Amino acid sequence: MNAYDATRMADVLAPEGYDETTDIAQADLVVLNTCHIRERAAEKVFSELGKVRELKEERAKNGQEMKIAVAGCVAQAEGAEIIRRQKAVDLVVGPQSYHRLPEMLRTLEAGARIETDFPIEDKFDHLAPPKPEKVASRGISSFLTIQEGCDKFCTFCVVPYTRGAETSRPISKIMDEARHLVASGVRELTLLGQNVNAFHGLDENGHSVSLAALTARLAEIPGLLRLRYMTSHPNDMQDDLIEAHASQPALMPFLHLPVQSGSDRILQAMNRKHTAQQYVDLIARVRSVRPDIALSSDFIVGFPDETEEDFQATLNLIKNINFGSSYFFKYSIRPGTPGAEMEHQIPEDVKSERLRRLQELADGMRYAYNETAVGQVMPVLFEKKGRYPGQIAGKTPYLQAVQVDGPDSIIGCIADVLITETRTNSLMGSLVGEIP
Ligand code: SAH
Ligand code: SF4
Repeated sequence: MNAYDATRMADVLAPEGYDETTDIAQADLVVLNTCHIRERAAEKVFSELGKVRELKEERAKNGQEMKIAVAGCVAQAEGAEIIRRQKAVDLVVGPQSYHRLPEMLRTLEAGARIETDFPIEDKFDHLAPPKPEKVASRGISSFLTIQEGCDKFCTFCVVPYTRGAETSRPISKIMDEARHLVASGVRELTLLGQNVNAFHGLDENGHSVSLAALTARLAEIPGLLRLRYMTSHPNDMQDDLIEAHASQPALMPFLHLPVQSGSDRILQAMNRKHTAQQYVDLIARVRSVRPDIALSSDFIVGFPDETEEDFQATLNLIKNINFGSSYFFKYSIRPGTPGAEMEHQIPEDVKSERLRRLQELADGMRYAYNETAVGQVMPVLFEKKGRYPGQIAGKTPYLQAVQVDGPDSIIGCIADVLITETRTNSLMGSLVGEIP
């Protein structure tokens, strides 16, 4: 979602005369878009700011200006602290207020500014659409935020505090944005939300529309080839969405459905409001309509009071479900969340050791999963030039990266690929059949 927000900040600043640069030393304005989800991400902001300050001082010596803005969830949570600790910062803007960046920049003379309210107006109503050339330069696969915020209050998580209450964007706004992106060359959309499957946006008649109904509408946009969504919560996995994985060809067979732990005791302490068995049953239902669906999850190790037995339950769940890929995190204490106050915090070395064991198991399973692709012919959507000359990179329906030798003309198209080999981060293949 931060990647999406970064493009939208660039969009809102474009009419002011700003454009993106890859050379930070040339920047008149540096926007650090930050993440607060784990301590390490948040701490990184201050070390980055130190580096940017040096560049600002360099430019000042040459009579050039550099404004520094801190955006995102660290800005939201620690705005005043940022201004206090790093005097070079000119403004701080939270994730729900970045539409105000132009106005904030114009009125900067009055001194450092902080904007971290949750404003009444919807930021999306105030964001200029990107120029078609800009959309094209960002590639054929695009993110589109449809839902933000969260009311679930898992005891480890800062999102409900930094992103605010759960809200869904209206259908007409999403459709307009999607049509604009597709008209500018986008062929795949990944719909984003902290709880994207809790989506319930209102249509033109004021009726609530589910995620499955939204994907059905989006799939009708001519030129849009593929749809994905993330991140989902198990308790919001409605029947119509499961069914959509069988009936909607544009909806890709990939589901990122974080479970966090395989232990009921820990799931309860995390306030996830489901058991491990309920998750297993849910996956069985999804697989009954779409047996080939690729599954992925997030896991936290070392949540307060997690015993070796709890951890074993997580390992067992992973073996049982057979995820294609997953993300693993050491529990990170986040100030202000209930987890931070819990007794029996787990020592860092125990967390690290559990993380390593989990990673080892998952790496083996991911490799085995990718190996099953070898020898298969898969429709691959090609996105960009590959790492080496003549190579083109794309994705399988299961979100595996694929490299083939082929012409540039296949970028933006789906072509059949015979998968020949697995590498660490991607599959290798060759084009078969008709080349678009
Ligand atoms: N809404 C999604 C997750 C959003 S946060 C869901 O409910 O699953 C993305 C991931 O970051 C989470 O799934 C979790 O695994 C991880 N995460 C969140 N807070 C964390 C913390 N305090 N320590 C470690 N990992 C955390
Ligand atoms: Fe955080 Fe997701 Fe839980 Fe919401 S549902 S509190 S975003 S982990």
